[in-house]
Amino acid sequence: MKILVINAGSSSLKYQLINMETEEAIAKGGCERIGIAGGKLTHKAHGETFVVEQDLPTHTDAISLVLKMLVDQKAGVISSMDEIDAVGHRVVASGEAFKKTTLVDERAMELMEEIKDLAPLHNPAAILGVNACRAVMPGKKMALVFDTSFHQTMPDHAKLYAIDYEDYKKYQVRRYGAHGTSHKFVAGEAARYLKRDIKELKIVTCHLGNGSSISAVKGGVCIDTSMGFTPLAGVPMGTRSGDIDVAAIDYLCEKKGMTMQEGLTYLNKKCGVLGVSGVSSDFRDLEAAKAAGNGRAALALDMFNYSCKKYVGAYSAAMGGLDVIVFTAGIGENTPAVRKAVTDGLEYLGVKLDDEKNALKNDGTIHDLSAQDSKVKILVIPTNEELVIARETAALC
Ligand code: ADP
Repeated sequence: MKILVINAGSSSLKYQLINMETEEAIAKGGCERIGIAGGKLTHKAHGETFVVEQDLPTHTDAISLVLKMLVDQKAGVISSMDEIDAVGHRVVASGEAFKKTTLVDERAMELMEEIKDLAPLHNPAAILGVNACRAVMPGKKMALVFDTSFHQTMPDHAKLYAIDYEDYKKYQVRRYGAHGTSHKFVAGEAARYLKRDIKELKIVTCHLGNGSSISAVKGGVCIDTSMGFTPLAGVPMGTRSGDIDVAAIDYLCEKKGMTMQEGLTYLNKKCGVLGVSGVSSDFRDLEAAKAAGNGRAALALDMFNYSCKKYVGAYSAAMGGLDVIVFTAGIGENTPAVRKAVTDGLEYLGVKLDDEKNALKNDGTIHDLSAQDSKVKILVIPTNEELVIARETAALC
C-alpha cells in the first residue's frame, strides 16, 4: 500500500509518498511560492534531488506537478497514479468539529469551511490542498489528519480556560494543542524502544522546533499540553511569545498604536527568542551569538530553557510521576545545551543526564541520554509526523 501525505501551506506544499510495507518514504519534496511568481518544486527520490522551476499559480498546479514527478521516467517512483492507494492531508486545527482522522467527503469539507478561522494561516491552505487533490485525482480516497486529535483525550480540568462556561460551549474556546501527530509518534516510539507497555508509562514529550510544545502523556494518552486555543501559547518559540498576560497585549497595543490584529501578528512573528535576543529565531544563531558574548541571546536561551523545565515539573505533578522525557524536532534533536539546561536540577525527580551521551551528534536514530543511575529515561527520538499521517490514513482508507 502506498500513501501520499500532503502538508499544504498558504504558498507552499510538502509531500511524501510512503510505502506502508516498509513505512519508508520512497519520494518526498515540496513546492514553494505557489501563487507568487517564481514557483519551484524540489523532489527527492532514488537518492537524488530534482528541481523544477516553473510558475505555480494555484495549489492544483502544484499537485499536478507533484504527480507528474512521481510518475516521471527519471525522477518517478511509480508507474501510474493508480499506485497511490490514498492521500492523507495534514490539518492543523479541528476545533470541536472533528475528534479523529476523518474521510474526506462533502460533509467533512463543509465542516472544514466552518472551522477555517480557528487556524487562519493553516486551515484554509489545507482546504486548498484537499480541493486540488480532488480535482487532479477524482475518486481517490482521502483522509483529514488533525494535529489536534491526539490532544482530544485531555480532561476538562486541563483543556478548559477559566472563562464563562457558556461561552466555552457557544464559541468552543478552549485548549486544543498542536503537534499532536509528533507527540503521539514519539511517545509510542519511546515505549517501543524501552520495550515497555505504554499504558504503564508517564512520559513528557518535548517537541522543540520553530514552534515548540510539550505534552504530558500518561498511559499512552495526552492529559495536558502547552499550546492552547492556537499555537501561540506555551513556551517562548522562534518568533512566538508563548504565554503572556493578555492584559499586557491590550497595554502594548495602546502604547505601540497597534490594532488587536496587529498585536497578534506581533506576538506571532516578532516575539519569542527573536524578539528577546534581537539576533535570530534560529537556535544555531543564538548559540553562536551567546558564545560570542551576546547577553540578550543568552537571556533568550535561558528563558526558553527555564520555561521548558517548568513544564517538565508541572507535568510530572499532573501525572503523579515521571518515567521518560523525550526530546524531538529541530532543537530537541540537535541542541545538547537545551537538553542539558532543561534537565539540569531535576535530580530530585530522578532525572540525570549523561553529559557524554548528550554531546553525541544527531544521526537520525533514537538515543538514550540518561545516566546509568537515572530513574527517568531521557531519550532523543527523531519525529516523523508524515508517517503518523500515513498510518492513520491507511487505517481508514
Ligand atoms: P519547524 O518544523 O517547526 O519549522 P524544526 O523542527 O525544523 O522547526 O526546528 C527548527 C529549529 O531547530 C531551529 O531553531 C534550528 O536552529 C534548530 N536546529 C538546531 N540544530 C539543527 C540542525 N542540525 N538541523 C536543523 N535544525 C536545527
